[in-house]
Amino acid sequence: MKSFRYTKGLHDLGNGLHAWLLPDGSWGWSNAGLIEDSGQTLLVDTLFDLQRTREMLDAMRDAVPAASDIGMLVNTHGNGDHTFGNQLLEGKRIIAAAGCAEDMKHRPPEQLAQWQRDWRSMGIAGQFWYEVMGAHFDFQGIRMVLPNETFAGEKHLHVGNKDVHLIEVGPAHTRGDVLVYVPQDKTVFTGDILFNGGHPAIWAGPVSNWIRACERMLEWDLETVVPGHGPITDKGGIREMRDYLVYLMAESKRCLEAGMSFDQAAEKISLDRWANWGESERIYVNVHACYRELAADPSSSEEKGIRMALLEMMGKRYYAMKAAAAKSGAGSGHGNTHGHVHGPNCGH
Ligand SMILES: [Zn+2]
Ligand SMILES: [Zn+2]
Repeated sequence: MKSFRYTKGLHDLGNGLHAWLLPDGSWGWSNAGLIEDSGQTLLVDTLFDLQRTREMLDAMRDAVPAASDIGMLVNTHGNGDHTFGNQLLEGKRIIAAAGCAEDMKHRPPEQLAQWQRDWRSMGIAGQFWYEVMGAHFDFQGIRMVLPNETFAGEKHLHVGNKDVHLIEVGPAHTRGDVLVYVPQDKTVFTGDILFNGGHPAIWAGPVSNWIRACERMLEWDLETVVPGHGPITDKGGIREMRDYLVYLMAESKRCLEAGMSFDQAAEKISLDRWANWGESERIYVNVHACYRELAADPSSSEEKGIRMALLEMMGKRYYAMKAAAAKSGAGSGHGNTHGHVHGPNCGH
């Protein structure tokens, strides 16, 4: 496997492919990609705010002259940390799964701009949201620019002479998840179908679709896997994600059959095997998704109207872990592979 350092900025993957990495990969710190061939370019995802996206586009232009006029943008899914910079590519061909466009309409940047002003009145949920996201990004004045070309299933694009396959695998993480696969370069940009070194967030489900997406990628000839969050990896990272999802589904089933509520299950299920992963507070979102699936309930966590309750549960767990880490002393507490320590001096 080629190895890439996990540092902020543009990483040359070879063959005209680049990845933009944004450590530490936790809440909102997402990756993006650039595919160039024969003077044509395709951008995979924008970032969470305009300033961060502008910084990335400038670096891409410096490294790849053709990126001064990016022709196409693919949004891998509708979360803001992959779409809120779209405004800077307005007028270009912007492609996404239909479910991605729906998610984007449902969750415009104005909502987060509002939270950024009102978080103090939102209790522990607001405090947690502000600490992990609101304090680090600027949502004021972002105008949502939706995809102008949507599809379902698969879509094949040409970037110069390069074949790029867009493969819809959702609903899974969200309602419209797309993999950007470049077969000839044995590379895939997974969007948030892969979190590497952090717990995923199963906003939509079903989890079984997500497991299938991992299985599908594992059948491909792959050398380089660029996740939506965390360091660049290979098939090993995909296997780990699949194993986590399979485990979580089995454990959730056991807990459900034992009569536990989803939050009791979330507190009961051991995550020791992934103790070095960040964002373990997402276990509430994830077990809730497993429970919905086990109950054959096709709704997303948003539709259930429990977004705030989930945010509050995550906040409580986050602060409890932070307090435990502080008690056990800096450095010996909870850390993870992308260097995110939920300690008292945590800078983000
Ligand atoms: Zn993301
Ligand atoms: Zn996402």
